[in-house]
Amino acid sequence: MSNQWKGYTTKLLHEGHRPEPVTGALTQPIYQTSTFVFSDADQGAARFGGTEEGYMYSRLGNPTVDTLAERIAVLENGEMGLAFGSGMAAISHVMMALVKSGDHIIASDALYGCSFALFQSILSERFGVNVSFVDTSSVDKVEAAVRPETTVLYLETPANPTMKLSDIQALSRLAKAKNIKVLVDNTFMSPYLQRPLELGADVVIHSATKYIGGHGDVVGGLAVGPKELMSKIKRSFLKDLGGVMGPFDAFLLLRGLKTLTLRVERHCSNAMEVAEFLKGHPAVDQVYYPGLSDFPQYNLAKKQMHGFGGTLSFVVKGGLEKGRAVMNSVRLCQLAVSLGDVHTLIQHPASMTHAVIPKEERLKVGITDGLVRLSVGIEDVNDIIEDLDQALSKHA
Ligand SMILES: *Cc1c(COP(=O)(O)O)cnc(C)c1O
Repeated sequence: MSNQWKGYTTKLLHEGHRPEPVTGALTQPIYQTSTFVFSDADQGAARFGGTEEGYMYSRLGNPTVDTLAERIAVLENGEMGLAFGSGMAAISHVMMALVKSGDHIIASDALYGCSFALFQSILSERFGVNVSFVDTSSVDKVEAAVRPETTVLYLETPANPTMKLSDIQALSRLAKAKNIKVLVDNTFMSPYLQRPLELGADVVIHSATKYIGGHGDVVGGLAVGPKELMSKIKRSFLKDLGGVMGPFDAFLLLRGLKTLTLRVERHCSNAMEVAEFLKGHPAVDQVYYPGLSDFPQYNLAKKQMHGFGGTLSFVVKGGLEKGRAVMNSVRLCQLAVSLGDVHTLIQHPASMTHAVIPKEERLKVGITDGLVRLSVGIEDVNDIIEDLDQALSKHA
């Protein structure tokens, strides 16, 4: 992969970008086709036999989708990218490729609810993969959980929704020594703010639905890792499990990507101001945002992230009832799950995104009933603050 451009935004716009060769269209067209015509029977056989490069059928590869996969590999500074029909498709396909029954995996104890369910209810209960949910903010606790049959260490940092961080570099060093693959769900950061492969991780995964798409109009997933593993996933798991991305979704994500750095910078600066406002508000007990200087892992945040992100959580005084009242009183913030949207979104993890996690597990990792998650959008920050202030003050 060439490193022709130094600036990240320039790279984002130019590296791996080429005009469409037949017409010269600057923007990647949507190749909205299920199949591709061969010039003769020999060509068809050669393509299926792998002796000739080229397209056959859109589950096996599609030019618009492949362009997106190439672009994400550039942005994560990795060898090969793949696109999937959703973030969960990316996570499940990569995990299926890396584990088999009898293996043991270690996963962060604060995880996106569906990732937790995938590991617990599907991989563990149905497919015989042993799972330990561990506080991965502690390298010692991870080391203590390693078994001879451990094959994967799965991290989400910052963790959803408590924002707890895991030290990607230190954990990757430990894992490498024990021949364990490290996967990082980088959804909360986007490749602009954190690049796990540069810190030693093996595979990075995104729910592209969030910051990469950015406009709340598409569901998609991406993964980047070593060529050998990713080609195996493309040739086998993606082909046979079939969680592919459609060409139109890839087009929307390519479009969203173009403004990634601009949007993320605004998300970050808005979130910082909102976090400081919330911290000073009498109706708020606690604010979780890695950019606050009293955040317990502030130094790690500065070391491994290039910005603090646009998502934060806070605990409203008075628990669930007050939290619910705030969510019912906001006017600008939209009551919706998802994050990374240009609109500010507010939601209640305990009853929404993390409801599948048993209550005692939730409480152990800090997802209390009064915790509210806010994905700060790109609106004018004073309007966001004013909206939160009126909602919080009404119920103080
Ligand atoms: C949304 C999300 C996912 C799942 O992605 P989908 O695109 O909704 O399938 C995984 N991990 C994190 C951290 C998420 O926020």
